[in-house]
Amino acid sequence: MSAVTHSRGIERLVKGQDTQDGAGVRLTRVLTHDLQTRLDPFLMLDAFGSDKPDDYIAGFPNHPHRGFETVTYMIAGRMRHKDSAGNEGLLQNGGVQWMTAGRGLTHSEMPEQEEGAMEGFQLWLNLPAKNKLCEPGYRDIQSQDIPEVVTADGVLVRVIAGESHGTRGAVQRDHTKPIFLDVQFPNTPNAMFEQTLPNTHNAFVYVYRGSLEVVHGENATTVPIQRMAVLRNEGNGVVLRAKANTRAILIAGQPLKEPIAQHGPFVMNTREELIQAVDDFRAGLMG
Ligand code: FE
Repeated sequence: MSAVTHSRGIERLVKGQDTQDGAGVRLTRVLTHDLQTRLDPFLMLDAFGSDKPDDYIAGFPNHPHRGFETVTYMIAGRMRHKDSAGNEGLLQNGGVQWMTAGRGLTHSEMPEQEEGAMEGFQLWLNLPAKNKLCEPGYRDIQSQDIPEVVTADGVLVRVIAGESHGTRGAVQRDHTKPIFLDVQFPNTPNAMFEQTLPNTHNAFVYVYRGSLEVVHGENATTVPIQRMAVLRNEGNGVVLRAKANTRAILIAGQPLKEPIAQHGPFVMNTREELIQAVDDFRAGLMG
């Protein structure tokens, strides 16, 4: 018996843009600025993955953030985080760092390896206007502390946020109700995975191993590797069918429907608030 009776279709497929950030880390910006309103409450998704140290070794030296949350999910490799609130942590294979920038902090994210693969994601999740200047917060969630569930089809789901198949994730948020799943299909083809989603949640899937199909009624549309499928806001969930060993992240959240004003690492609601953020940073108020 399927819980998803009307599944979402694909609105568009997105390739992402190759770019550099930090001190010269090569990455793919999958969720770009022009999708911020469509995918509200998410502001950005970067995918990084390389076994060439030159692509990642420069890292992300000290820089500020204000007004939102950064969620970093490491698939492979090790990164050392330090911030102005005195937090320090080693982010590694399968772990998540969930940082609430709130009114502002300064941090660095530097590779703690000189060779080998570095792979993962960084997602930016907006904060509601009333919480943008909240106390900064930080959580390092080690891989073993991320709840997992295996479905009857043998799909391993790592529940970073929200809930899936009765398993509550590591993080919950009241206003944006984010769902962040790493969906790992078995080594046999055509396994299915379904996830219920309120149709008001904006949602997307990004494939980082193999490939899958989004099954929508009688139709199925392929999402190749390194593509993001923006899902239509319809029905009561999404149904995926994958090749063997496919892995994808499924992300959904309740939109805030508030104005978005961004200047680099600051995301507020108005231009005046951005000017204030720059002033506060220059005045040393972000650590
Ligand atoms: Fe950062």
